[in-house]
Amino acid sequence: MRLKNTVAIVTGASSGIGQAIAIRFAREGAAVVVDYVGDADTPAATEMQIASFGGRSIAVAADVSKPEEAQNLIDRAVAAFGRLDIVVNNAGIEKKCDFVDYPLDEWQKILAVNLVGPFLVSQAAARQMIVQGQGGRLINISSVHEDLPMPTNSAYCSSKGGLRMLMRTIAVELAKHRITVNNIGPGAVFTPIDADVEAKPEMEKALMAEIPLNRWGKPEEIAGLAVFLASDEAAYITGSTYFIDGGMLRQSGSY
Ligand code: NAP
Repeated sequence: MRLKNTVAIVTGASSGIGQAIAIRFAREGAAVVVDYVGDADTPAATEMQIASFGGRSIAVAADVSKPEEAQNLIDRAVAAFGRLDIVVNNAGIEKKCDFVDYPLDEWQKILAVNLVGPFLVSQAAARQMIVQGQGGRLINISSVHEDLPMPTNSAYCSSKGGLRMLMRTIAVELAKHRITVNNIGPGAVFTPIDADVEAKPEMEKALMAEIPLNRWGKPEEIAGLAVFLASDEAAYITGSTYFIDGGMLRQSGSY
């Protein structure tokens, strides 16, 4: 067990990548706080899977874009498990729209969840980790789009680009406390966030053509990288993005 005796928060852990990370962390011995928004039954599937192998978890409702709810997430983790070692800022949303038509309120909402959320949760978590004095791990689920432009997705790309510089900057600031900060940059992973692409075979075919390994990534593959970055083996890694994209960022057109 690579995360034995640790306490981890995973935001947006009721579905997709966050769910896979929460379950895998629990399998590796972490006590896991399953953050969710929406109905109280939203995190049930994640919690049930964790309980099925005797793992430990609690579910906490917290909209990461709201300061008081982000703080409450940290407080609940410490109240339940006594400490906090690992945070995965996974919660994220997107909306595609032509730039010239993009509604300001939608743009601000995406920035609030995808960038302000990790700021709020990481800040509250770092304060707790500094008090504990034993270091910690902050991991953001970013995207290939922290680097790669995507037409019609200006808010999402801007939020992930901002997340890259938030990560790099606070990695330097927090290093003296032995708190490491890294991003995971997935390519195309088969989850509900890609429902629009999955529903259109032509769109899906075009996407696959951009991926040298020619398939969707699996949430479990992202979880494997998250375990590594959360573990002791990654103690000397900070300030970097780890892309996991089937070669998407390296493709150079058809050949
Ligand atoms: P997903 O299944 O839609 O998961 C997103 C999760 O975030 C959901 O559980 C959602 O809860 C939660 N969430 C949304 N707003 C929230 C808020 N304000 N506070 C707390 N939680 C909130 O999609 P996913 O693909 O697993 O995405 C997870 C992360 O991976 C995102 O940051 C995304 O940008 C990133 N990513 C995904 C892909 C991909 O291809 N799937 C590629 C690159 C990066 P509700 O469902 O209840 O709204």
